[in-house]
Amino acid sequence: MCGIFGYVGKKTSAPKAVLEGLKTLEYRGYDSWGFAWLENDKIVVKKAVGKISNVKTINSTPVRNSFVAALGHTRWATHGGVTDENAHPHTDCNDKYALVHNGIIENYTELKKALLKKGHRFKSETDTEVVNHLVEDEIKKTNSNSKDSGPLLFEAFRHSFKKLTGLNAVALLSPNNEIVLAKTGSPLCLGLGKEEYLVSSDAVAILPYTKEVIFLEDNQGALINSEGIKLYDLNSGQVINREPTHLEWSIGSSSLGKYAHYMLKEIYEQPKVLSHIVRNYKDAILALSGVVKSSYGTYIIGCGTAAHAALAGSYLFSKIASRHVNFSFGSEFIYLTNFLTPRSLVIALSQSGETIDIIDSVMEAKKRGAKIASLVNNLGSTLYRNSDYKILLGAGPEKSVCATKSYVSKLAILAILASALADDVVSGMKQVAKASESIEEILRKKYVENVKKLAKKISSHDHIYTIGRGLNYPTALEAALKIKEVSYIHAEGFAGGELKHGAIALIEKGTPVIVFAPFDETYDSIISGATEIKSRGGFIIGVSPKKNQVFDYWLPVKDAGSASCISQIVVAQLLAYFLALERKADPDKPRNLAKSVTVK
Ligand code: GLU
Repeated sequence: MCGIFGYVGKKTSAPKAVLEGLKTLEYRGYDSWGFAWLENDKIVVKKAVGKISNVKTINSTPVRNSFVAALGHTRWATHGGVTDENAHPHTDCNDKYALVHNGIIENYTELKKALLKKGHRFKSETDTEVVNHLVEDEIKKTNSNSKDSGPLLFEAFRHSFKKLTGLNAVALLSPNNEIVLAKTGSPLCLGLGKEEYLVSSDAVAILPYTKEVIFLEDNQGALINSEGIKLYDLNSGQVINREPTHLEWSIGSSSLGKYAHYMLKEIYEQPKVLSHIVRNYKDAILALSGVVKSSYGTYIIGCGTAAHAALAGSYLFSKIASRHVNFSFGSEFIYLTNFLTPRSLVIALSQSGETIDIIDSVMEAKKRGAKIASLVNNLGSTLYRNSDYKILLGAGPEKSVCATKSYVSKLAILAILASALADDVVSGMKQVAKASESIEEILRKKYVENVKKLAKKISSHDHIYTIGRGLNYPTALEAALKIKEVSYIHAEGFAGGELKHGAIALIEKGTPVIVFAPFDETYDSIISGATEIKSRGGFIIGVSPKKNQVFDYWLPVKDAGSASCISQIVVAQLLAYFLALERKADPDKPRNLAKSVTVK
């Protein structure tokens, strides 16, 4: 899940450009960081354990060359511990080339064995380093010096890359100020600036330079040097042509602005995201509803937060459109594909569009002829490209590792889609607009202070439980996920009616229990559940339009009909944020996590 960023252009300090790029990509991994650049035609590498955001500057000597290149990496370790040696970039036996990698090289053990036999010396425990030595061997195969620049360098790199199995993205910096790169699964995109070229794991880091981006497809590679970007097909080695995509995102949308953390900023952006959907998505949603209507068997899948949105989708479809849709976790769906046919439709939800568990399931479904519809935030992502029908979430860059605005945008699209299926798209749009107004009220200063106060009160507890029924069962699950992700407090969500079948045994005096109680068919039952918990000593936090005597703490959320699940979750997002601050955790970079899980 690492972040790769490379610069080729006229900046005198290419490493500084890479430093800025990596800071934007830090959400992809923050075990360690590293840079490579050139001084006197020799590769210089600087790398260390820790977060790139703590690196203030890179002391590189400004170069006189008119065109310079540099490459960097932020790591989320998969193979080899979190050490300076295992940080990327890696180099070959002669420290001639520097290389960074995102993915897992599945056959690295056998490749390494063969390379060791040939006398190669390894400096790290990573799977990555085999590529350095493979390239070194390929280049050695002929004695021609020209072999390590231009198309010939790419050719040596291509042959090495083709020996790897697994889903990978690799970029290599040569002593000639060139970068060569290739990908099979993990994302890579290329930016076409004004006499400067960028490579990045995510287009968001390219925005300060250009909005013209090429999203590399699997089995494509590139050579970047002073002549520009040359794209290649990895199988044939032939040069290919592709038109760049124009990005609509603005730079401002990816910077922190007045907020202390991206998580908070993104929570505050939610009303805007919802209004954007209400104003602009009607036609796209109506078109998708036609596809759903004509499919025979619809499946809705997602991982993590997207799984909760998918589960909510199944409730929305049933409640609003009396339509059955099968929910599955993205990582499990691959085992449930035997009954897919060419008439099946799979709706895949993903913020990044690169989540490997989703991509694998989608590819399997495609093999069986099923059609794929996706709700995805990242234009040009693997999921986006592989979908027959797609709706962009329009949430803008989401940089905090824990998902907030992408969740509400998925819910909003699904709620409107369900209304469209019931031939009443307008009522869905009205309810989402209501939810957006209700979120605006939640985000008022006084309300936020009140959530902060609650966080202070319950932050020393080791366990927090959340309950909801019907449409708010997924809300309960998502609320618990937010809390555990960022505050590390054990939190667990339950279907409100299930607690009494076992888990109620966990309730002790003072145990905080968050109860989602909107004005719908679940209200009376969820209040009964809350009363049972209170009788056993639970501290009841009610998230509901009206006060109830069972609540020890009440957080009002205005009714928005079936879209209430959209506004209710915002209270839990805020609570999770303040719990993280109380527990001195960084809400934007939770331990052990990274956004966009591109490995299995
Ligand atoms: N497998 C490489 C490592 O552990 C890259 C990890 C990744 O892309 O997440 O260093």
